[in-house]
Amino acid sequence: MRREVTTTVRVKLHSLTERKARLVEREYGAFQDAVHGDDVNLYSATKQQAGKVRSNKNPRNDTEQPIVLRNDCITIEHDEDTVLSSWWFKLPVYNPEKERGDSIWVPVHVPEKDTHLLEDKCICDSELVYRDDEWYVHLVCNRSVAVADEYDDVLAVDMGAKWIAVSTFLSDRDTQFHGAEVRRVREHYKQLRKSIGKAKVRSGARVIKRLGDKESRTVEHELHQVANELITRARERNAIIVFGDMTGLHFDIDEGRYVNDKIHKMPYAKMANILTYKAHLDGRECVPIKEYDTSVTCWRCGSQHTSREVQGRVECHDCGLDDNADKNGATNIGKRAVGKNIQSPLSTAGAVVAQPETQVVLKGTNDEMEPANSPDDVELTLSEGNPRR
Ligand SMILES: [Zn+2]
Repeated sequence: MRREVTTTVRVKLHSLTERKARLVEREYGAFQDAVHGDDVNLYSATKQQAGKVRSNKNPRNDTEQPIVLRNDCITIEHDEDTVLSSWWFKLPVYNPEKERGDSIWVPVHVPEKDTHLLEDKCICDSELVYRDDEWYVHLVCNRSVAVADEYDDVLAVDMGAKWIAVSTFLSDRDTQFHGAEVRRVREHYKQLRKSIGKAKVRSGARVIKRLGDKESRTVEHELHQVANELITRARERNAIIVFGDMTGLHFDIDEGRYVNDKIHKMPYAKMANILTYKAHLDGRECVPIKEYDTSVTCWRCGSQHTSREVQGRVECHDCGLDDNADKNGATNIGKRAVGKNIQSPLSTAGAVVAQPETQVVLKGTNDEMEPANSPDDVELTLSEGNPRR
């Protein structure tokens, strides 16, 4: 199986001569006028792009739009021999002196970790961006990577309000909790915002915005850490990764406060993207699984006669299960991933859970006895689920 992986490489323009800087600025200014409807001189392909931005986005007057560069008009090249820069970007601009479209070669800095992407020549889109008094080109690189077809286990991931992610292997319910730090970070900033909000109204807003930027960078870093942990864990058992897909749930009505809490406290879409991207790069499939009912269904007997009166726990009134709520949810996500009706007991989940021969005490948060089997019994060929686009 092959999957498309998209990476944005941000290269920074540097050491522009005065003439080139002027041409870049002119083109950028003219592009802003063009997307707001003025007839201006631009490189012809770029003028077309401006027309598209105008008709698709109709951007507001007080916003700046990056110049969309057509793929066939740009080139990025590595050149070890020049002193000034080892990477050069060919940028299409309108040249007022020649009164026609032209191209200029500008020196760019490419992050070391991304150089192989540019050497592979997989660029599909690019934009010229102006930010903090610097020029950048964002190059979107699409690659096709191979992911394995067969796995020995399922690592089911439930993204939660309390933890960024709780992951459970379907074969033996070995569970880990990931990303407590995010909660700590968020609480820290929440307290800070509160105290600042009280202290000073006028400068407060600005400080709060700055805090917000810092917070989101810290949180994003944590999300990457959590994704890395999950990938490493899946690799150890050659497991496919599946995660709860919260899109399309009617939170307020069906699922109650628990799910509501999750959606509001968790940067879910961002986490899903990072995880999917990293899994694919690792040659591993990563599949979203519809999350409806997974938090209210008992993973062991399939009953929905459950309650969550104690914080973070789920209790089943039919079979007596008392389990961590996220772990319960993750197990149901795993069951659904292998095509099982989650309202059937796990023991009917065919290939995944063969008839248990032994009873084991899991390393869970309580000492209940539950059937399980070794990962060796598990052999799956996944065909279910829709890959995330
Ligand atoms: Zn039950």
